[in-house]
Amino acid sequence: MSIREQLRAMALPVVSTMLLYAALTAAGGLLTRLNHGIALIWLANGPLLAMLCKTPPRQWPAYVVAAWTGMFGVVLAVSGWHPIAMPYAMVDVGEAVIAAALLRRWRVNDTLFRSIETMPVFVAACFVSVALCALPGAAVAVVAYQGSLFRPVFVDWIIGHGLGLLLGTPLALVARRDEGVWAELARPRHAVIAVGVVLLVAVTTLATFWQDALPLLFLPVLPVVIATFALHRAGAAVSIVIVAAIGGVLTVQGHGPVMLMHGDAAARLQFFQFYLAALFVTALPIAALLKQREALSQALAENEARYRLLADNATDIMVTLNPDGTIRFISPSVREIALYEPEVLVGTSLIDIISPEDRDRVRAYYHAGLAAPERTVVLEFRAVKADGVASWFEANSRIVIDADGRPAAVVCILRDLDGRKRREAELEHAASTDPLTGVLNRTAFRLCVEKRLRADAPPGTLALIDVDHFKRVNDVYGHAAGDAALLVLADLLRANLRTDDAVGRIGGEEFAILFAGRDCGAAVAICDRLRDTLARTDIPAGKGSLSITMSAGVMPLRRDLTIDALFSRADEALYRAKALGRNRTERAVG
Ligand code: GH3
Ligand code: MG
Ligand code: MG
Repeated sequence: MSIREQLRAMALPVVSTMLLYAALTAAGGLLTRLNHGIALIWLANGPLLAMLCKTPPRQWPAYVVAAWTGMFGVVLAVSGWHPIAMPYAMVDVGEAVIAAALLRRWRVNDTLFRSIETMPVFVAACFVSVALCALPGAAVAVVAYQGSLFRPVFVDWIIGHGLGLLLGTPLALVARRDEGVWAELARPRHAVIAVGVVLLVAVTTLATFWQDALPLLFLPVLPVVIATFALHRAGAAVSIVIVAAIGGVLTVQGHGPVMLMHGDAAARLQFFQFYLAALFVTALPIAALLKQREALSQALAENEARYRLLADNATDIMVTLNPDGTIRFISPSVREIALYEPEVLVGTSLIDIISPEDRDRVRAYYHAGLAAPERTVVLEFRAVKADGVASWFEANSRIVIDADGRPAAVVCILRDLDGRKRREAELEHAASTDPLTGVLNRTAFRLCVEKRLRADAPPGTLALIDVDHFKRVNDVYGHAAGDAALLVLADLLRANLRTDDAVGRIGGEEFAILFAGRDCGAAVAICDRLRDTLARTDIPAGKGSLSITMSAGVMPLRRDLTIDALFSRADEALYRAKALGRNRTERAVG
């Protein structure tokens, strides 16, 4: 923001501060008539303090000068020029500045009245600033109004200014648009409640202050508290204003229960203000507490939703236990992982499904965990699934403590370690096998060859196999019959291998065999035997059957060649077998 824009943004609040300060000075002046020069209630500093709380200190001089001008103007207009008017105005405005500086220093200026913790801080700041200013303020007043005694003026200053800040600041702050109070009040449901509450407070206050036979001052407390519960801070503020307006007018006119006390009109009015401040200081903490509770329950609902989402979709099991170990909640994933219905487990003890040999250890850990609630406890144990099979689980647990620091619940995440290993193995298998035939895929087969080349044992021989005229098989019998033929071939290759050997599908109808530790001659002999068997095998195709032949290229594994070179030599041999008429085995040369 440029300086010009800043000035423009400040103009309205500064001018309104000046006018409000002037108006409240005039009001204070009226009430002063009843007293010896000191306002019975000095409300002007409330809005100024509320404003200073919400503005950065570098802008404070503008507001201070505005308030000071407003006050000075009114004093000039009403009483004419007097040398003490200036110091008097400085002390008055200075009081709000000191309170604002303290609130900022104690870091509550932004959150004032939103939480209950800010209340005593606010009262302390008001007390310190008023006490600091009462001394010079009363001294100035004694000089100005000759004949006044210092002590009563000093006491009146503290009461009048203290009450003014206590009452005026929250009212002014709650009335600010940026506090969101009015927006909340404007909601249709709240508007209806607001009308009802206003009526209730007004009628009760009228009933209390219309008569002066009974000391009914306690009566408005109830509707004020109801208003606060219904409308929070707005309820507290609005109901206090109603009590102040109705009760104030009737008290000034000599009606109401305040008339029952001894003392003059000034003392009665002071007592009424004290009553108002007490009412407000009762209602505000309730409002702050309700506001906090609202924020808390929203945060709780959010957390709950997040936790439920996690629990419902987790592949681990989430459990909440009572401190005695009974299950309070268990996530639906227990159905898939441990085959139990969650509803059946709720209310039973978790220890019941833990394998008997691990129970003592788990119990000891559990009790140690409860004794040191700040730690996350990690523990492995065996638990018996619903089908009777025991599986290793890993539990991560945390203790939830209540307001008194005692364990209220234990939240755990149970991970099925066996199941995880099995799933990992399944994934690895899926990644390394050919989905049609179940033999190794190209990548996995090449890895086998590489591993064999690195091993100490004699490496063996590589054979590449390709079905002859396979396009024709597809063309004549259809693709499904072609697939069936590939399955027959894969089964044949697999059935004739030893455990160290490997077979892979490395292309559409191309296979490869790793004959571990065998020399080229043995490999050729086996390939020929496989070729023979294949040629004689009837493969079902529609209503009839078909047969296929294969060609093979064989290359002994050598550690001085790269894997690519080995494959390309074997491929050359295969190509030669094709060229020489197919259904035959050829050795690589060289
Ligand atoms: P050659 O004797 O020269 O090998 O003749 P060929 O017809 O077998 O020729 P080639 O090896 O180039 O052809 C491979 C054919 O295999 C092409 C394709 O139609 C077929 N094929 C590849 N993968 C599959 C499969 O998964 N299923 C079926 N049914 N056919 C496949
Ligand atoms: Mg081919
Ligand atoms: Mg082929």
